[in-house]
Amino acid sequence: MRSPECPHCGLSLAEFNKAGRLGCSECYRVFADELHGLLRKIHGSDQHFGKVPVTDPFQLQVRKELLALRRRLKRAIEREEFEKAAGLRDRINQIERLTESDRRTQLR
Ligand SMILES: [Zn+2]
Repeated sequence: MRSPECPHCGLSLAEFNKAGRLGCSECYRVFADELHGLLRKIHGSDQHFGKVPVTDPFQLQVRKELLALRRRLKRAIEREEFEKAAGLRDRINQIERLTESDRRTQLR
């Protein structure tokens, strides 16, 4: 079984798993399943989100993830865990960039 690889930036699944972040907005599509699994792992059960009338449940999941990350970022800053905060901010920025471009293509 070959592991998926982003055709745009060349990020492999192994690299994604190691770095925990995406290389470009194409990765978002290529690793959608992986991301979904990752988010599920972070949040545990997300069943109650199944009834929310949004066309893309993954988008919703991403938004939830952003909220959680922002909360963790705030806590990290309060505790002066700046290294951790920087990592969280990186992830937030990355996810925001990806979801922004995704929303634009969806809503035009
Ligand atoms: Zn990529």
